[in-house]
Amino acid sequence: MAKDPVCGMEAKEGKITSKYKCKTYSFCSSTCKWAFDSNPKQFVK
Ligand SMILES: [Zn+2]
Repeated sequence: MAKDPVCGMEAKEGKITSKYKCKTYSFCSSTCKWAFDSNPKQFVK
C-alpha cells in the first residue's frame, strides 16, 4: 500500500496515480489526485 500524500490515508498502489518530479504518487480517490495535480508543491516536501 502507498500513502496518499493529500489526505494521509492508505491508497491502493497503481490505481489512481500521478507523476511529479519523477516520482509516482498514489491516491485514494480522484478528488485527492485532482487536489495534488492542481498544487503538488503543497503536498510534496
Ligand atoms: Zn486521499
